[in-house]
Amino acid sequence: MGSPRLAEVLSRIDRVCASGRLPVAVFDLDSTLFTTGPRNFAILQEFLGEPGREGLARELAQLRQEEIGWNIQDCLRQRGVGDRALWDELRRFWTARFFTDAYVLHDRALPGAAAFVTACHTHGALIYYLTGRHVGGMELGTVAALRSEGFPFWRGRCVLHLKPSFEMGDAAFKDDAVADIRSYRGEVVATFENEPGNANMFLRSFPAALHFLLTTVHSPNAEPGDPQLIRSPDFIAG
Ligand SMILES: [Mg+2]
Repeated sequence: MGSPRLAEVLSRIDRVCASGRLPVAVFDLDSTLFTTGPRNFAILQEFLGEPGREGLARELAQLRQEEIGWNIQDCLRQRGVGDRALWDELRRFWTARFFTDAYVLHDRALPGAAAFVTACHTHGALIYYLTGRHVGGMELGTVAALRSEGFPFWRGRCVLHLKPSFEMGDAAFKDDAVADIRSYRGEVVATFENEPGNANMFLRSFPAALHFLLTTVHSPNAEPGDPQLIRSPDFIAG
């Protein structure tokens, strides 16, 4: 069950529109609007399908995509499957595929996500998709994935902001993005993130907004999320 506070986002959008200002709603993509489980699972299946990996494939035959968690290598390590050489090989195999146009098409929207973002847009918000996916290999797949999962895109009042390069750090990029969000001179009503550090940063930057922390997966050693963040597993209003 999602958060009862989601409905409040829509009323806030209505209020900001009525006051003659532009409401802005900020959405992270990976593990916020989309679950990356299917992308990870497809890469793992491809790895296991290579010649000579039949034994490994049998060992992992029962693994479901929901069990993969933050990354595939840790998933294998925690199960005591494989060794360092294999995990390193899998890491290289994964890196060459995970951050590409073709593989983001495996991602699926979180429950209720497309309907909720569409409602925010219909109520009058500017939809600001903000993602650590990079320009130069992920932009076209990202747009295709947004459209195929039913998110608003080609209809005005939708921004897609990707990281300018693969090498730039995610946190530094999101810091810079705050300046871009402010440049619309609207009012940020809500932000949605799965990384507690980013959600904390949004809370500090836009203290009057509602800040949601999606309780999907987050990076290892993440800083603790501020108690004011609204925790929700999905986008189904409770
Ligand atoms: Mg994310």
